[in-house]
Amino acid sequence: MNRITCEICRDLIPLVQDGVATKDSVEAVHEHIEQCHECAELFHKHLPNKDMDDAKIIVRFKHYTNSVLTVLLFIFIVFGVSLTDGMNVMMNTVIMPVTGTLSCIVFGRSALWRTPAVITVFTVLYHFTSLLQGREGYGDIGNIVMFIILYSLFALCGIVIAALLHYAFRKEHL
Ligand SMILES: [Zn+2]
Repeated sequence: MNRITCEICRDLIPLVQDGVATKDSVEAVHEHIEQCHECAELFHKHLPNKDMDDAKIIVRFKHYTNSVLTVLLFIFIVFGVSLTDGMNVMMNTVIMPVTGTLSCIVFGRSALWRTPAVITVFTVLYHFTSLLQGREGYGDIGNIVMFIILYSLFALCGIVIAALLHYAFRKEHL
């Protein structure tokens, strides 16, 4: 079964060829043209080889950048959460907004729920491992929830900043 109709596929082909389509669209188009001969012909006919290489390079570059940013994102969150107990906990007023911005670049709109979800997982893990190590003052639900909310709010600031920048940047180019 084809995920998209021929019409949608043909709308998406120029975007895919220009390397500006989202990952989902690229996958949908490639899935479609694997099964649809007419669209496949259209896809190859309208794609000079050089452009295809360029589009591929752009897509690859985007994938590469996203992977690097995702790794950075996790490092920042783990690092930030690990500061919870120490003197440097205030650094999270910078670290968490940065993670929000990174998350927004990598995940787009879904950063709104993905970022708090990742923060929640690592905060719970942090408390759980501290508890296992027999350190005192951990595992208190109220404490955990407070940090999750606090970190998520800071991350949200970063997301808002990223969204505003994105909006301003787009407006300039219209
Ligand atoms: Zn088709």
